[in-house]
Amino acid sequence: MSQPPYYVGLDVGGSTMKAGAVDDAGHRLSSVSLPTEAERGQDLGLRRMCEAIRRAAAEAGLAMSQVAAVGVATPGTMDIPAGVMLDPFNLKPWQNVPVRAFVQRELALPTAFQNDANAAAHGEFWVGASRGAHSMVLFTLGTGIGGGIVLGELVVEGEHSHGAELGHMKIEMTNPRRCGCGGYGCLEAYASATAVAHRTLEALAGYSGTSALRALVEQKGAEALTCRDVFTAAEAGDALAERLVEETAYYLAVGATNAMHVIDPDVVVFAGGMIAAGEPFLERIRGHVGRLAFPVPAARTHIRYAQLGTDAGFIGAAACARQLHRRTCQGTA
Ligand SMILES: [Zn+2]
Repeated sequence: MSQPPYYVGLDVGGSTMKAGAVDDAGHRLSSVSLPTEAERGQDLGLRRMCEAIRRAAAEAGLAMSQVAAVGVATPGTMDIPAGVMLDPFNLKPWQNVPVRAFVQRELALPTAFQNDANAAAHGEFWVGASRGAHSMVLFTLGTGIGGGIVLGELVVEGEHSHGAELGHMKIEMTNPRRCGCGGYGCLEAYASATAVAHRTLEALAGYSGTSALRALVEQKGAEALTCRDVFTAAEAGDALAERLVEETAYYLAVGATNAMHVIDPDVVVFAGGMIAAGEPFLERIRGHVGRLAFPVPAARTHIRYAQLGTDAGFIGAAACARQLHRRTCQGTA
């Protein structure tokens, strides 16, 4: 049985946007994916966001009048209090997109707006890997590394909408690698899926031993090498791939330890494609954290994988809508 009130969350990504209706207990009632097609302009993008939300409600058998609030999560730089996307690098040519005002006016519903990684963290905190926890830190491992921090009722947005940028904490100051953000030495430049592939190509160039990865690169081309290829080769016992996976676990443990020493959270969660590597990879991360972190947090902090998969964004956006709705109700009570 679903529990009212109902919310619709929307997660806007570089290639697709995913929306879903969610009930008050966090159950998914529907899910709808539409192509983002950012290149066709932001006006179309905004209309499509509303369409995705309407379809998600309809697929769940809900009239829009039964939806208490909606939440929209988007990537890239943004002004969260203003409800505006600023310059999302993977949604070119969108700029200064007034997401919250448009959706709120078009659907005539209270609308929450949030960064996509913060939303994913909120989703995992509400009904996923950190359900029942008091505080959590989330790392999403993909093309880049996103971050989210939730402390009780608070999703840490920061004073300037740049809080919880965990992928851009500096982990290397000597000969640092260049990051996608333009800076140097960021965690993302070492441990994102893209960075794992880059590090592998560099390692191969200086490696004289035999590795299945060399044959793979010759066969499909350097650009086509993926993080998954490296993890698969490591599982098959390839020595170079094993080294790269081990180093990746170490970098992620450095990031987790830094976050633990700042926040001291109940749970640290890793999300994204890399978690397909399974429990052995998580054990490696835990092992390094055990050596790097202060003894008490090292012993007590739970380190887990995310549970909501690619639905985390829209569930988290719905969680933001729920929070907005509850605050509004409390305000008028
Ligand atoms: Zn960076």
